[in-house]
Amino acid sequence: MYVLVVNAGSSSLKYQLMDTTAEKVLAKGVCERIGIDGHIEHKNEAGEKFERDIPMPNHSVAIQIVVDTLTDPEMGCIKDMSEIEAVGHRAAHGGNYFSDNVYIEGDVMDRFELCREIAPLHTGPHIMGIHGCTSVMPNVPQVIVFDTVFHKTMPDYAYMYAIPYDMYEKYSIRRYGFHGTSHCYVANEMAKVLGRPIEETKIITCHIGNGSSVTAVKGGKCIDTSMGFTPLAGLEMGTRCGDMDPAVVTYIMKKEGYTPDEMSNFMNKKCGLLGVSGVSSDSRELEAAAKAGNPRAILAANIMAYGIKKYIGSYTAAMNGVDAIVFTAGIGENNADMRARVCRDMEFYGIEFDEEANINTYKPAGPMEISKPGSKTKVYVIPTNEELMIARETEKIVSARK
Ligand code: ADP
Repeated sequence: MYVLVVNAGSSSLKYQLMDTTAEKVLAKGVCERIGIDGHIEHKNEAGEKFERDIPMPNHSVAIQIVVDTLTDPEMGCIKDMSEIEAVGHRAAHGGNYFSDNVYIEGDVMDRFELCREIAPLHTGPHIMGIHGCTSVMPNVPQVIVFDTVFHKTMPDYAYMYAIPYDMYEKYSIRRYGFHGTSHCYVANEMAKVLGRPIEETKIITCHIGNGSSVTAVKGGKCIDTSMGFTPLAGLEMGTRCGDMDPAVVTYIMKKEGYTPDEMSNFMNKKCGLLGVSGVSSDSRELEAAAKAGNPRAILAANIMAYGIKKYIGSYTAAMNGVDAIVFTAGIGENNADMRARVCRDMEFYGIEFDEEANINTYKPAGPMEISKPGSKTKVYVIPTNEELMIARETEKIVSARK
């Protein structure tokens, strides 16, 4: 099945056209500066790049340009729009409204509208992306794949916060977890490497990028994850603070005179690697500063690594063991220094870390082991592929309708 995978942000829209039978990418690209001026960067299957500035006043026009590019005789890969058999949309937050990925029909969009309240920055653009596809390809089935769905198997004591129960009932305040598509993909890839049915495995997946989360996957199911009600929780991230004593929030608000929105902006945009180091939210720049001896860059990197290490420890306890630990996403796949900070001195957990293999793992195309061959607990770098998961899930849901 030819599935167009769409990841719509407020001013950008990433897309991939995938052939799910061959599991290959036919073309991919990104529309940027939507609502400002407009720019598309497109790559065909051979990796040839095409770029152009073109007005994109809204997401519907951006989708039309994507379709025009995909069907363009020079840049494209299909003859006609009718070859696109389904669209799969990535969505950040399904809240309590969606416990499964969904075929868009009936009241689905009305329910998705309700997610705006808990994830306004993400849900608005996702809705615009869906409306854009509906206007350009009215007869093509569409599916929403949520970052939260993989985490629905957490037990109540893992997802509940210790707040009065009626607050949970009234406002659906609980841990949801994010990056689910990525955690699910790399856990399944890891099980294949272990050569065992995933039902018999205990895996900790570390998705470490601009946004980062760690997940405990027992028997193929998420039993706990570090992000929470929102993607602000858990680890120190590029610009997000992650977990801290909740009293810090009200204390800073009082001291700095911040409104709730200003405080939210502060915690999402001004903290993390950027806030601690004062250098950058980008791990490449941070590592360069750390190597040059900048003490705050070193501190920022150490806070992140220590956080990951602690999650590995606590999730090993939660699962009563661990067979494998996986690193993925921008930092997890590419930053050997960060992986080394996490994995050194973990012999107690059965990890024999291979320093040399770790350094030699750069932009791996597939699973790469960074533990020593005899290590009881395996440590791997596995490149994530959220688009493939979204395409597979879209195909499954659409095919079930036929
Ligand atoms: P997002 O959460 O936005 O999807 P990514 O998964 O793309 O983020 O991760 C972005 C992070 O990955 C940045 O901190 C970036 O510096 C880091 N990164 C990407 N490539 C490399 C690299 N080659 N070496 C070190 N860090 C890298």
